[in-house]
Amino acid sequence: MDELKSEIIKFQKERDWKKFHTPENLAKSISIEAAELLEHFQWGKDYSINEVADELADVLNYCILMADALDLDIKEIVLNKMKKNAVKYPVDKARGNAAKYTEL
Ligand SMILES: [Mg+2]
Repeated sequence: MDELKSEIIKFQKERDWKKFHTPENLAKSISIEAAELLEHFQWGKDYSINEVADELADVLNYCILMADALDLDIKEIVLNKMKKNAVKYPVDKARGNAAKYTEL
């Protein structure tokens, strides 16, 4: 993860783009790229795995930039959220069940 983040930050620095990467702009960019990812599934099950991979990479790229902009440790926040999710979705109630935690 550190190597990936370093590459993304290097790319950003070389282009002097940090000034554009405010949390607000990055949140918008994550949403826009997520919509581009979703677009590949809009009309059915036929999609290009390479195009989907590119859009997924765009989402992840902006997520990493967002964490950097907010000085958040990605591993720490993901593991922390997984702990919260584990409480909301206990295995004995959630296993094989797609219901929202409020419906378990
Ligand atoms: Mg894109």
